Amino acid sequence: MKKKIKGIHHITAIVGNPQENVDFYAGVLGLRMVKQTVNFDDPGTYHLYFGDEQGSPGTVITFFPWDGAHQGRIGGGQVGSTSYAVPKGSLPFWEDRLKGFTISFSKSKRFGETYLQFKDPHGLEVELVERELGKSSQWSFGKISPDVAIKGFAGAFLLSASPELTAQLLEEVMGFELVDREGTVTRFKSTADIGNIVDLNMEAVHRGRMGVGTVHHIAWRADDDQDQLSWKEHLENNRYPVTPVQDRNYFNAIYFREHGDILFEIATDPPGFTVDETPDELGINLKLPPQYEPLRDKIEQVLLPIKVRKLD
Ligand code: ZN
Repeated sequence: MKKKIKGIHHITAIVGNPQENVDFYAGVLGLRMVKQTVNFDDPGTYHLYFGDEQGSPGTVITFFPWDGAHQGRIGGGQVGSTSYAVPKGSLPFWEDRLKGFTISFSKSKRFGETYLQFKDPHGLEVELVERELGKSSQWSFGKISPDVAIKGFAGAFLLSASPELTAQLLEEVMGFELVDREGTVTRFKSTADIGNIVDLNMEAVHRGRMGVGTVHHIAWRADDDQDQLSWKEHLENNRYPVTPVQDRNYFNAIYFREHGDILFEIATDPPGFTVDETPDELGINLKLPPQYEPLRDKIEQVLLPIKVRKLD
């Protein structure tokens, strides 16, 4: 049977000042900060996670805030923009909200859908689109109630350095369905009801440069460890070198670079963010993996303090 990927698990990006990051994704967009931890490969810097009330797969954006680091450039070999699904009829609310925060935005149509497009404070491209599918988020924050709240990812807009090869991977190896073409964009769909639409720019664009304001990688969902291993084998059979499984505490991860130069990850749905704190406490305290717990004092001294704040 042909293997089919469910959809996006999470998207990870590099940003600047951590409080500006929290203010935007929690304070303005109303996502829940579901985890504050450190970069497991660089424990002197944060790794912050934002999603729906539980941090369900398909809703989670994660950040490495590198305050003062060099600005990146969005381009080929990256996710160009991150699309969020909002409930039907809620775009006017979001337009007003962005105006209230003096965030400039534009509107454009793709495949008959209206996208509200804007940048986060560090240059990441974000867009909102109304979608029927996907359960509403139960997280309400400030003036954002569940009837207008972001549900999770609508999908992602990919900028490939070799679009034909990326398209081939999505369709023939990962089991996406090619559903439409419009201008230079090809639309692919996966099986989940959230994080399931990938728009691929079929024009090769200049390579991006990693840094603040760029996406580092996009992760796709595996049901469990066994499903992840079967994806690893399947990708290797298709001559994609895949990393060994890495324990990310909240999921297990494998990585591979696709031929259009975008870093892909496949992450397990379990165990999720309640593995080290209760659902009520998600995101409130700095959580460290066991290997860094003895260094907590030192780590807390170097991290800039952050706070989730209502900005309405
Ligand atoms: Zn990841």
